[in-house]
Amino acid sequence: MIMIINYKVKTLITALTVGLQIISMETHTCPICGRALAYFSTRDRDIIDTDGSIKTLFIRRLQCENKECRKIHHELPVGYIVPYKRHCAETIEKVINGEVTKAVENEQRTIDRIKTWWNYVLPYFLNILKSLTEKTGHIFDDSPKTAEIVRAVVNSHNWIFTRSAVLSG
Ligand SMILES: [Zn+2]
Repeated sequence: MIMIINYKVKTLITALTVGLQIISMETHTCPICGRALAYFSTRDRDIIDTDGSIKTLFIRRLQCENKECRKIHHELPVGYIVPYKRHCAETIEKVINGEVTKAVENEQRTIDRIKTWWNYVLPYFLNILKSLTEKTGHIFDDSPKTAEIVRAVVNSHNWIFTRSAVLSG
């Protein structure tokens, strides 16, 4: 999986659903082996929007051209998706910052779950940012935004190690 920030959003109407097509303006190499990625397919991914409604996103799946690797990577748009979360990025970010959206205002358990998850992964994520700075020279903000942290961790292929510890929310 890859988090993208340069994309266009287009309404897409299919026989089954109305959704948003994410049109990526970015080119990435495989986060695992560094080789080129080629378009593989498009899949739909439902998220719970800030107002509690379900929003369908159509995202690209890219496949690594390296025959030894062949991994499939989903392109996840920053601002909409946090990996493995059902709620949209805005709700997740608000909850982490002590606010709520309509989608979770009466769901204390969801709020607690998101906060518990973030408190658990944050020290690990900040360490990844630190090691990325040492490795690449990229300087992150003193208090980086949730979206920036998530993107850096995902695109450096470090997110997967937290998966077993991640509670759904
Ligand atoms: Zn690869």
